Amino acid sequence: MNAWYEANKRILPWRMTRNPYLIWVSEIILQQTRVEQGIDYYLRFIEKFPDISSLAAADEDKVLKVWQGLGYYNRARNIQKAAKQIMFDYGGVFPDSFDDIHSLCGIGDYTAAAIASIAWNKPFAVVDGNVFRVLSRLFTIATPIDNQIGKREFVQLANWLLDQENPGLHNQAMMELGALQCVPKNPDCIKCPLNDLCKAKASGSIDLYPAKMHKTAIRNRYFSYIYIKCINGTFLHRRESKDIWQGLYEFPLIETKTPCKFDELRQTDAFRQIFKEAEKTVLIQKPYETSHQLTHQTIHATFYSVTTEHETSISHHYLPVNFEKLSNYPFPKLILKFFDWNNKNSD
Ligand code: SF4
Repeated sequence: MNAWYEANKRILPWRMTRNPYLIWVSEIILQQTRVEQGIDYYLRFIEKFPDISSLAAADEDKVLKVWQGLGYYNRARNIQKAAKQIMFDYGGVFPDSFDDIHSLCGIGDYTAAAIASIAWNKPFAVVDGNVFRVLSRLFTIATPIDNQIGKREFVQLANWLLDQENPGLHNQAMMELGALQCVPKNPDCIKCPLNDLCKAKASGSIDLYPAKMHKTAIRNRYFSYIYIKCINGTFLHRRESKDIWQGLYEFPLIETKTPCKFDELRQTDAFRQIFKEAEKTVLIQKPYETSHQLTHQTIHATFYSVTTEHETSISHHYLPVNFEKLSNYPFPKLILKFFDWNNKNSD
């Protein structure tokens, strides 16, 4: 396995280091993110925040700006909270015990095991989606992986198999085997270093593993954004509630249970809370409709570009921002999509 890894591994920037801060940043970025996309974000992140103290001292908006487009923004907020924890509780030195690493904000079993084993060669097995797939096929384990009982069983097995001399190398080899060789669909088992041992290959049952219990239900949400175009700029809102995109900026938003045309929207209380003189708003461009897929939700968004006679009639809850300053703010991908469309379609 380790020999296969040395011969086949991808050359990735975070594999050149044993620095726990850099390994941590890479692990957090790579949760829910493809490696190819993660590389650029990783390089930009460590350029802006090269160490724990620079990350701890940064404005949250600056951290979110570097994270912009990557999604799952809790990761960015948590990594900064944990950097502050390290400054405060550990004098700025990254802790080296599994329990201390695990106590940091946003770090669970997987990330703590990855950092402890890769940075300090400590014997903790990592079990990510790739490792679940390899182990479930290798031993034809039918226990579903999407519940705590299943996870515990796989972690125990992975720890039992762990190379105690080289746990960091072994963990990386297992993850890389799942990422490159034991892929979800049609793995090329002839080339697999474990093919003599693999029970799923022997029984022709590869497609049955790993097993899952639940299919996640997708929720539909309908967002109407109001892009207010004034002489010098527009108006933004910072998302604060415990919902998607917390801490990111957007235009004034009205969420409805079904899609909503502009004339209907203008009649709503929510619209009147944005504009004190709702009747004086004018639609200045055809609406832009798009949808955006998140893990558990589909956002159906319509962007209405409007102007109003009196800027002063806009609720003080919204932040006036000059057009040339817009790029300073972190936005969700959906809003960036609108900016692209707007650049191509406005006069
Ligand atoms: S033999 Fe095939 S199914 Fe088994 S571990 Fe290797 S790649 Fe996966």
